[in-house]
Amino acid sequence: MIRQSYKRGRIAPGRKLVQWLSTLLLLGIPFVEVGGESLLRLDAQTRTLLFFGASIRIEEFYLFLIALLIFVFGFFFITMLFGRVWCGWLCPQTTLCDLADWIDSKVGALIPVRSLAAALNQLFYLIIACVVACNLVWYFMAPGQFFARLLSGDIGMVAGITLAVTLVLVYLDLALVRRTFCRTVCPYGRIQLLTMERGTLTLEFDPELKDACLRCGACVRGCPMGIDIRNGLQIECINCGRCVDACRDVMEKSGGSGLVHYSLGSVPEAGARPANRKARLMGAVIAILMVILALAVSTRQEATLKVQRAAGGEVKRLADGSLVNFYTLYLENRATRPGSFSLEAAPLPGYRVELIGPVRDLLVPANGNRRVDLALKVSPAPPGRRGVELRLMRDGGVVTVTELPLLVE
Ligand code: SF4
Ligand code: SF4
Repeated sequence: MIRQSYKRGRIAPGRKLVQWLSTLLLLGIPFVEVGGESLLRLDAQTRTLLFFGASIRIEEFYLFLIALLIFVFGFFFITMLFGRVWCGWLCPQTTLCDLADWIDSKVGALIPVRSLAAALNQLFYLIIACVVACNLVWYFMAPGQFFARLLSGDIGMVAGITLAVTLVLVYLDLALVRRTFCRTVCPYGRIQLLTMERGTLTLEFDPELKDACLRCGACVRGCPMGIDIRNGLQIECINCGRCVDACRDVMEKSGGSGLVHYSLGSVPEAGARPANRKARLMGAVIAILMVILALAVSTRQEATLKVQRAAGGEVKRLADGSLVNFYTLYLENRATRPGSFSLEAAPLPGYRVELIGPVRDLLVPANGNRRVDLALKVSPAPPGRRGVELRLMRDGGVVTVTELPLLVE
């Protein structure tokens, strides 16, 4: 049977590089700013998602929904192509477990007194848990604001509870749970079974080389999940590749090559690689969703205008025969910079139309709202019920248009 496989090079340096980069990204993203705002943050105070320079209000939920669908389908897509590679290479839980294992081994090697080493380990787990908890909150509260509020003892109840709960959970995870979570609680391994195809990347003990196995057990000892890969693919396998390196190290000493390797599934005798049909279908769905999201984001208005009749709802007829209606407007600036807006009423053929109230230099902060109370005077009074077009302007251009409904009495 012919297999598409990768047999050369050590896996560990590549995996560690990916883990380092993803960790630095997770830690660093809240500190990166575009136009004075975080690159990526769900601002809890303004209920706004700051996303690479765009600011998306919670009201624009459909954008969240599309982004969420892309994320979920993307997850399945990666799993269909590369199996549980997320678990072994990118998952923060695995990175934390690897870090805790590394701390255990270093502290154990440096400090011979077991009780002292154990206490030091606990201290390191606490520090890591603290960093993880802070990092999580930075995705909801800008780091600058976070540190200022923390120092002044005014972090807020929700942020405080989030910090404390995350800190305790991560600490307990590192101290007691670690990879048991991956083996028992995490549903992702079960999902993997549903998404696997014949062409999915898996770890494989080469059955054709079974007789070459030295039965040294290095692959089992190196496995963080306690798997014997010689018994075939198992649900607990996180595709980390440690067994590949372990076997290769052993076999290379006797001039051979490793017996475990990554494989893109079996192929039929004809020699063609199996088509990963589910993955291609999923890829097409993701591409369509990304186009929809790009169109939705690029055509979204940078400001909105909502109209309500003024609380009294009264209509006035003046002595000169004109008609006056009163309104309350709510102006929302969705941009990440403050805006100066103005309001204009469109001409109504045969009538004189006039806006009375603040209509020029309406300053609205970034991601902010402003209420505007104004009146619309139309002379002479039109005979029936109709509407007047109201334009929200910025820098001489029309941002959005709405209608002022005109009541005659
Ligand atoms: S079997 Fe190999 S790839 Fe799978 S978890 Fe164990 S060491 Fe990692
Ligand atoms: S490390 Fe390689 S040679 Fe040793 S037991 Fe595992 S598969 Fe066999």
